[in-house]
Amino acid sequence: MESKFYTLPKLPYGYGDLAPYISEEQLKIHHTKHHQAYVNGANAILQRLDNARKENIDIDIKATLKELSWNIGGHLLHSIFWENLAPPGKGGGKPSGMLNDILEKEFGSFERFKKEFSQAALSVEGSGWAALTYCMQTQRPLIMQIEKHNTNVYPAFRILMVLDVFEHAYYIDYKNDRAKFIEAFWNIVNFDEVNKRIERLLK
Ligand code: MN
Repeated sequence: MESKFYTLPKLPYGYGDLAPYISEEQLKIHHTKHHQAYVNGANAILQRLDNARKENIDIDIKATLKELSWNIGGHLLHSIFWENLAPPGKGGGKPSGMLNDILEKEFGSFERFKKEFSQAALSVEGSGWAALTYCMQTQRPLIMQIEKHNTNVYPAFRILMVLDVFEHAYYIDYKNDRAKFIEAFWNIVNFDEVNKRIERLLK
């Protein structure tokens, strides 16, 4: 059904399925509280804009758009994040296919890519994300280090894979140890899904 508002997507696995790398409690809170808050936040602003236009009331456009960008960014990035995770066994390992080819060509090896991506995630200032993106102009995969949900973004670059390093993503399981969470991520990253994304983009 077509909607003019955002909805929380269902996870492609159960809340307990990413354990022991992400616990059931951590994943459930992350999805049902944190991600849901961005969906609600974005929808509330859209509703506010609808009402203001209908009643012809002035609003603080700068503050509203800043808040909207934060919430929509949060919603879209989390939606990608859930898709590029998979239960241990299905997730983890090494990339194959086209993904492997482009990573080896750009970074020299998967190990080098993994190291740079991990360093990007570890060093995000404050809260944010590491993202693997693809530039159609240069045919290069590029790592994007997103602060908050919307700063340092390369406009229009297709995002292939993300890692959430907001503390809300790991505080129950890893306290403030972001490095440990990043290490865990490599056991549950869904390279098949990431490979499908690059294949769809380049075909
Ligand atoms: Mn998050």
